Amino acid sequence: MTDQGQRPTTTDGGAPVASDEHSLTVGPDGPLLLQDHYLIEQMANFNRERIPERQPHAKGGGAFGTFEVTEDVTSLTRAAVFAPGTKTDVLARFSTVAGERGSPDTWRDPRGFSLKFFTSEGNWDMVGNNTPVFFIRDPMKFQHFIRSQKRRADNNLRDHDMQWDFWTLSPESSHQVAWLMGDRGIPRTWRHMNGYSSHTYSWINAGGELSWVKYHFKTDQGIETFTQDEADQMASADTDYHQRDLFEHIESGEHPRWTLHVQVMPFEDAKTYRLNPFDLTKVWPHADYPLHEVGRLTLNRNVEDYHTEMEQAAFEPNNIVPGTGLSPDKMLLARGFSYADAHRARLGVNYKQIPVNAPTSPVHSYSTAGAMRVQNTKDPLYAPNSYGGPAADPARTDDGGRWAADGDMVRAAYTLREDDDDFSQAGTLVRDVMDEDARGRLVDNVVGHLLNGVSEPILQRAFEYWRNIDGDVGAAIESGVREKADETDPKAGEQGNEARSSMQDKA
Ligand code: NDP
Repeated sequence: MTDQGQRPTTTDGGAPVASDEHSLTVGPDGPLLLQDHYLIEQMANFNRERIPERQPHAKGGGAFGTFEVTEDVTSLTRAAVFAPGTKTDVLARFSTVAGERGSPDTWRDPRGFSLKFFTSEGNWDMVGNNTPVFFIRDPMKFQHFIRSQKRRADNNLRDHDMQWDFWTLSPESSHQVAWLMGDRGIPRTWRHMNGYSSHTYSWINAGGELSWVKYHFKTDQGIETFTQDEADQMASADTDYHQRDLFEHIESGEHPRWTLHVQVMPFEDAKTYRLNPFDLTKVWPHADYPLHEVGRLTLNRNVEDYHTEMEQAAFEPNNIVPGTGLSPDKMLLARGFSYADAHRARLGVNYKQIPVNAPTSPVHSYSTAGAMRVQNTKDPLYAPNSYGGPAADPARTDDGGRWAADGDMVRAAYTLREDDDDFSQAGTLVRDVMDEDARGRLVDNVVGHLLNGVSEPILQRAFEYWRNIDGDVGAAIESGVREKADETDPKAGEQGNEARSSMQDKA
């Protein structure tokens, strides 16, 4: 900033300009002149500063850092990024899901936890969340789920009735909803939350052996959360609290850290495990598959230009490197397409050439041209060729993971296994992980949420949903809603009902 005054302002074309204050006019009081191209450039640029926000995960922020491998996992993966002692540059982005770019950081919502590792073998991304599970297990429902959490078409308001309508008609959501309504549904800061891959991925070792893995980045700062009241107060006091907290801590040299652990399931176990290990609504209980430490992530450098380095950051689960791969999780396989597609829509087909997304390892692809391509491509532009163009390596067939699949083409749910039901892991969370105080706060949070415009038929379904998770918690929620509705407004629920009947009239 100090030398700002010494540098001449220029046009975007680099030519010096005469004034930062006055447009070109016919005399001081006369009309503007079209040849004031600098004024026009300023106005035109301003009109185009914003790009479409992400749908979802629009509100977020993050930083750069380093990942250092502290343990030896070479028996499981040959990925260079996980070789003992390796240090890799990383970009991290944290976000809420449903809120728009200006929405408060402290709304109750899962948090995105996305990481891009600039490895020597290409970019490896983990596009995770701060929760180990998700609301649904089939990508056909994803778009509907997100719309149910966003805004209504008519009044442009978020609507708890449609949220509970979707959740209670999708019982597989119960685990994630129980998690969301508990203490961890509002992290105190981004530094005080864990990041989970949630999905199952594969690791492949030098011998070509495949294992299934789940990634857990556990915060070294410890878990800290906000109560609903604290979060509500913070939402008005400082909308950008999480962004500010991360930026200021990194700026002052207090660098947040996470320790990466993996759960590892041998390839053969997946065939007979008592629950489907690829179902995104389930965890692998620690007692069955304990955590193994891998390394440490430290965030130590703030971005310099939020738009260039964060708004244009593009994470995608199909950024996989040799020794890592996907799995037969239907949600993960669909995200492989949808994330890259979202980036093409928001940023353009050449989004991987934007510096923050560009690999630091060499790129020799046959992609060429297209809008905003900034790196030169070289002939030949086709393969096979006789002119020294890059050649793919058939020995790499195993990269990205390999498993067998067979069967008729169907539209069907996963085949049910012994312990595959929608409510039992949610019940374990509520009964065995939460203590009595935490359960009390969960009940209060759900009661408050349900009292906010949820219509009677959906309230009834919500009570049943919670009774399926846990009988006592379900009963406490029902009596809490009934008592509070009587206390606060004997007509509570009617507003929601009116909106709903007007929606039904229109339908
Ligand atoms: P464990 O007792 O071994 O693990 C329970 C885990 O729950 C803890 O390790 C902690 O995860 C997490 N946890 C603690 N308090 C809360 C809370 N208030 N809200 C959400 N999560 C919390 O049991 P299991 O492995 O058998 O899992 C039991 C339940 O715990 C699961 O149904 C799931 O809801 C939850 N859980 C399980 C995880 C897993 O991967 N097995 C991960 C996270 C939650 P952490 O150590 O990651 O902070």
